[in-house]
Amino acid sequence: MDRTPENIVAEQTRLLFASALLPIVVSVLAAALLVVTLWTGIDHRLLLGWFLALALVSALRLRIVSQYSSQGRHDSGNQEYWHLRFLIGNYISALIWGSSSFIIFPEHSLSLQIVYFMVMVGMAAGGVSSLCPSFRAVAGFLTFILFPIILKLLLYMTLPALLKAFLVFLFWYVTVSGSKKINLNIRENIELRQQSINREKILKISEVRYRHIFSNAPLGILQYDSDGRILDCNEELIRILGSSRERLIGMNMLATLQNQDLLEALRKSISSGEGYFEGDYSSVTGNKTTPVRVFFKTIHHSEKAVSGGICIVEDFTEKKESEQLIKYHASYDTLTGLPNRRLFLDYLGGEISRAERHDYFGALLYLDIDNFKTINDSLGHSVGDEYLIMVASRLSEFIRKEDVAARMGGDEFTVVFTELGSSSQIAASKVRNIAEELNLCLSSPCKIGSRDLQSTVSIGISLFPKDNRGVDDILKQADTAMYRAKAAGRNEICFFLPSMQEAADEKLHISTELRQALKQDELYLCFQPQTDISGNLIGAEALLRWYHPEKGMIPPDVFIAIAEETGLMQDIGQWVLRAACLRIRDWKDKRLLKNDQTISVNISGIEIASPDFVSQVLRTLEKTGASPHNLGIELTEGSLISTGKDIVGKMMKVQELGVKFSVDDFGTGYSSLNYLRSLPLHTLKIDRSFVNDINSSKDNVVLVDTIIMMARNLGLDVIAEGVETEQELRYLNSKGCLVYQGFYFSKPVKEELFVQILERGRID
Ligand code: C2E
Ligand code: MG
Ligand code: MG
Repeated sequence: MDRTPENIVAEQTRLLFASALLPIVVSVLAAALLVVTLWTGIDHRLLLGWFLALALVSALRLRIVSQYSSQGRHDSGNQEYWHLRFLIGNYISALIWGSSSFIIFPEHSLSLQIVYFMVMVGMAAGGVSSLCPSFRAVAGFLTFILFPIILKLLLYMTLPALLKAFLVFLFWYVTVSGSKKINLNIRENIELRQQSINREKILKISEVRYRHIFSNAPLGILQYDSDGRILDCNEELIRILGSSRERLIGMNMLATLQNQDLLEALRKSISSGEGYFEGDYSSVTGNKTTPVRVFFKTIHHSEKAVSGGICIVEDFTEKKESEQLIKYHASYDTLTGLPNRRLFLDYLGGEISRAERHDYFGALLYLDIDNFKTINDSLGHSVGDEYLIMVASRLSEFIRKEDVAARMGGDEFTVVFTELGSSSQIAASKVRNIAEELNLCLSSPCKIGSRDLQSTVSIGISLFPKDNRGVDDILKQADTAMYRAKAAGRNEICFFLPSMQEAADEKLHISTELRQALKQDELYLCFQPQTDISGNLIGAEALLRWYHPEKGMIPPDVFIAIAEETGLMQDIGQWVLRAACLRIRDWKDKRLLKNDQTISVNISGIEIASPDFVSQVLRTLEKTGASPHNLGIELTEGSLISTGKDIVGKMMKVQELGVKFSVDDFGTGYSSLNYLRSLPLHTLKIDRSFVNDINSSKDNVVLVDTIIMMARNLGLDVIAEGVETEQELRYLNSKGCLVYQGFYFSKPVKEELFVQILERGRID
């Protein structure tokens, strides 16, 4: 059987109940009218009984109608039941009407029969219009009303009655078939309406679903038109950009985007369909920079025309953070935050190559905390951890920003110190000092929790670069040296090479002693006369001497270099300048020193590079009362070249006072003529090595000739240093060098002896 779909039944039921009220009421009124009309011709009891039956059924039907409107229409799963209840009420009502042809039919009055038929036909016809939505209802209603009449007429078995019966049947047939058609139309209508409701529902569901996806997507989504104007965006996009919907909607991205790469990706998507951007995006509308990935894709509304596009934005922050975290864990020690072994070895490799390239030395320190195991075992691992953190933080504070400290594991740490000096000796001596200080710093007491702890460290040192040795070798050497330090009784500093160890130890020793020598008056000045060819005194060079109480005379070549490395040079230079100026003043007062005689002091590059150089010279001259015209300053060619540009200004200021500058050891450096011309110089001192080789080397002869010629061209005086023989003297004299300093005339002499030379005014 073709079952009517539930939704159609429901609609039919709704229509039936909707138009039920009036027909029921009309039916009761029509029944009352019929009863009134037939009142004279029919038994009153029958009439009243019939009417009461109909009224009762009608009342029940009205009750069903009211129940439907309050519950039934919402009871979507039970519409067939309500339909059935309606049909039963309807059929019973029709049957009561039909039964009238046997109970109250006016058999003896033709006029009443006419009225009766009119009411019955009227009832039947009236039922059609209200019952058409359900064919079952209309067909049953007509059948139950009209068939009893047909039967009644057939029972008369008279021709007129048969004719009437046929007419009523015809009326039934026509009305039922008409109702069938109307019913089909109504059904189609219902179906069409249902379809459109369903379509709307589906559309609404898909719209809601789309909105739901759009709003709750874990990616930022943005829709824009073909001009790049934002049409819509979701919550995630607003969150990523740190902006608001009001600010974003309507914003023209082509006009406002600042990031050129992002703008390019958008333009590309509009012109060719797709665009991609990856990088940090600083929001134009919010103050937020977010690492993002952006995919642009255009939307076409016809085959060619672009209606705009969508853009998907992925927030990379978490990914980037986790990448960074992974990277951090791969390269850093989680406990102390210092670089780990891997990162450190990379760094060390780079530093070794850099040192090789730039010709300087660096050092690797391998540190191990003495007795760390005892701390760990006796106080627990958490105290041990705290101790390691403390060591790491002291290390980080101690080193310069260009150096790197790392934790190699356990209680072992490493540090790289770079650019320590251009010779391994200098580097060794410097790193020795640094290691001493570091040892002191790490060994000072500390508080962990409520405990006071103190432990020493053993330090192994290896210098680099070394005979093409790589990272592993240097690390192994420092490690070996560290074990040697442990074996030597802990709290020690050991170099990998014993020679380095000795040199560093010696230098450290000398620098400590030199500091004391300065305080304890172990330093004094000697003076080496400078004369003309006849031995007449032109001036003298003050030369520093250190007489060590145990080691005897220590040559300046040794201790000046150490003083320069250990930062003592400033103080020593000050001492020399002051001592020389005091002598100048004294000899001048005693009229031993003539106005044109010069006492020269040697000034190291470190001294002249100091910002206080000029003020110190001025102050010393002032305080000692020495005449600047009697003071000469010797600067080696090397220090002139390596000192910064402001040296010219400094020299000018000092020279303006009357102090004469000479270039010491001239010929050993590579100063250009132009540079020399820019300096306020008075004298060139030809280096001893050229003078001494005049006899043996032709090249040196040429060089000496050139220096003398150059000095003459620059308008400078020339002094030849280290003149030891008459032959050298004659040669120099023949070339135009008129002032000499050297053993030929006099060695550097003590003050008392020099005073005698001053008194005589010449060397005999
Ligand atoms: P310098 O300035 O070139 O000093 C000349 C050096 O040559 C002196 O050595 C001197 O004794 C030596 N000498 C002079 N004539 C002859 C000679 O005929 N034959 C030989 N073989 N040597 C001769 P000294 O005193 O040992 O000084 C060495 C260097 O130490 C000096 O070279 C200078 O650069 C440095 N120096 C000495 N005193 C001072 C000072 O007070 N300050 C600074 N910055 N450097 C100083
Ligand atoms: Mg000198
Ligand atoms: Mg010299």
